[in-house]
Amino acid sequence: MADGTETESRKLLVRLREEMASEAAGQERLDRITQLIADSIRCEVCSIYLFRDEETLELCATEGLSPEAVHQTRMRLGEGLVGRVAKSGKVVNTADAPAAKGFRFMPETGEERFSSFLGVPVQRLGQKLGVLVVQSRDAREFSADEIYALEVVAMVLAEMAELGAFVGEGAALSPLHQQSVQLTGGPAQEGSAEGHVWLHEPRVVVTNPIAEDPHRESERLNEAVEELRVGVDKMLEISQNGDKEQLKVLEAYRMFANSKGWMRRMEEDIALGLSAEAAVEKEQSQARARMGQVTDPYLRERLADLDDLSNRLLRILTGQGKTDSADLPPDPILIARNIGPGDLLEYGRSLKGIVLEEGSVGSHATIVARALAIPLVVHVGRITTEALNGDHILVDGDNGVVHLRPEDSVVSAFRDKIAMQAKAQERYASIRETPTVTQDGARINMAMNAGLMADLPSLGNSGAEGVGLFRTELQFLIRNQMPKRSELVTQYQRVLDAAGEKRVVFRTLDIGSDKVLPYMKHVAEPNPALGWRAIRVGLDKRGVMRMQLQALIRAANGRPLTIMFPFVAQAEEFREARWEVNKTIEREKRLGHILPETLEVGAMLETPSLAFSPQKFFDEVDFISIGGNDLKQFFFAADRENELVRRRYDTLNVSFLSFIERIVERCNISDTPLSFCGEDAGRPVEALCLAAMGIRTLSMRPASIGPVKSLLLRSNLQDVRKIIADARHRGEQSVRPAVMEWLRSQS
Ligand code: PEP
Ligand code: MG
Repeated sequence: MADGTETESRKLLVRLREEMASEAAGQERLDRITQLIADSIRCEVCSIYLFRDEETLELCATEGLSPEAVHQTRMRLGEGLVGRVAKSGKVVNTADAPAAKGFRFMPETGEERFSSFLGVPVQRLGQKLGVLVVQSRDAREFSADEIYALEVVAMVLAEMAELGAFVGEGAALSPLHQQSVQLTGGPAQEGSAEGHVWLHEPRVVVTNPIAEDPHRESERLNEAVEELRVGVDKMLEISQNGDKEQLKVLEAYRMFANSKGWMRRMEEDIALGLSAEAAVEKEQSQARARMGQVTDPYLRERLADLDDLSNRLLRILTGQGKTDSADLPPDPILIARNIGPGDLLEYGRSLKGIVLEEGSVGSHATIVARALAIPLVVHVGRITTEALNGDHILVDGDNGVVHLRPEDSVVSAFRDKIAMQAKAQERYASIRETPTVTQDGARINMAMNAGLMADLPSLGNSGAEGVGLFRTELQFLIRNQMPKRSELVTQYQRVLDAAGEKRVVFRTLDIGSDKVLPYMKHVAEPNPALGWRAIRVGLDKRGVMRMQLQALIRAANGRPLTIMFPFVAQAEEFREARWEVNKTIEREKRLGHILPETLEVGAMLETPSLAFSPQKFFDEVDFISIGGNDLKQFFFAADRENELVRRRYDTLNVSFLSFIERIVERCNISDTPLSFCGEDAGRPVEALCLAAMGIRTLSMRPASIGPVKSLLLRSNLQDVRKIIADARHRGEQSVRPAVMEWLRSQS
């Protein structure tokens, strides 16, 4: 970097710091800052554009353009060169602005006199705040040093904005983190919650972006990085024999902590006048901005590692950001970029709701949130940058909407909704012990799905008649290493103890596809959902399967035992697995263990192929459970994890219901008990239609039992069958409209 630019920049930053410390109002400060920058960079024009809402930028201060245009000139995100900088988050540098791509002529500003244009984004930790522009009359491109210097200034402006230095009149100068915002994401666990923000990773506020003594700052940075390195090395030492995934992350941390490029960039920023904290945050902001653009999952992960590391470094430098759970508000809504299942279990039921900036519908954290019945919304962009600890927040897990710092009218409508839901819960509680018999006398068995110890209390208070699906893999997924057989025995015993007389269907390990065990060698597969998963892994890795079967037999200890194999695609797979069960029983007997009183071995029907097995299979199997989530994805060839297609096909599609009916018929011929345990079993209208097709056992999340039962008790399945048959006869694609119409006419 040219020495001249460096000294100039430092001088400019020192003057900005004086501005920051002054008593001036926001507008006055902005005006002076544009003047300072124009002088320092020796340009005729310097302008600051800030967002007045998510989509609109407003000229908030200028030196060189017409003063009348201030607060009048606005552009949409992506519009003109300024909008382009804001949208892309990238610098635009051109000697001939009017000829540049996207240029928009704004006559009120008088900018037609200026030829060259340099715009840099003002952004902080991934949050777009505005654009800083310099222009000059002579046609020249700005040098790399000048761009760099302006980026540093933009970073300082972002920090000043965060600290409230530009607060003034009008939407563009309104204080940050105070307006109400509505953010949308993906619903991952239904339910509504009102509470106050609790940031899993508390934000660090940089109060001193500009420093006086670069040498001192460089020392501070080096000391902090050294502390960080020692810390990472220590963590690595401790984890050497542990979780491979964690080791990988720590190794990435070490790589960054020792990265010369990372250090050099921060040292350069400090030389220009930034404080050590600001230099770290500048790197972090850039990593976040890149994170929003890269799609490669490996690179995204590495950028996320760098982000984590920067947070650690900032905490060392500022001493801020240590959470103390004693400060947890009474109604905490957890906000995080992502969270692991272990951390989530630690918070446990104390949380009222969870909002994640990333996360996914199938992630382990989601599984835990579901087990704990905590409303969860995932993929909520900006939430970690928008929310402050203690902010009032409403989480609508049904629709995937989050209201941060909501207006009174939104709060009151939301509370009405919660009150209505509470009333419905009371109604459901009153029918908890009532057997589910429809108006035409069909008895439907209501079972629940479970997988964690946290689910067990629901057995009593949901009215479930048993556990129709116990997902044993969850115990494997939330751990850092393969559980021991003795640990599994204890867990399964606890499940059976809690169930008492009620039947529990233990599904053997269903891993692969989206459920990846962190401690098992990862096999890269082009299509994991169609790949090496569930019973396929079990049959290829007999040791794990046997260990689990032994644990189940020992946990039953003379009680009835029900085992179910997932993802059986052809009869032979089931036969092999059953053979393994028989062998294990023999072995256990030889070892002197008490055998189960009764043993049922069933198969999950999750691929269309199994429905077309020879009838002999239906004779052999003790029971069948339709895994509707997988079955539907394979029936419609639509990935259940892919937001673009996962809602595209309706369960009430005539073809799907006809297929279900066919499975019912085949089971009836062989007198094979049949249940349905996918998510649709817990959706009242879907459950009603499944029952109308002949399904007599539905297994669902505990919270769904009340609403489903309530509808079934009121309904006549023969009537629903007729509605479905008529819709099919009319050639309709889905029976939903006809069934909904009928339901409306009934109420
Ligand atoms: C299913 O596929 O419907 C099912 C119940 O299993 P999982 O959702 O665990 O794959
Ligand atoms: Mg499945």
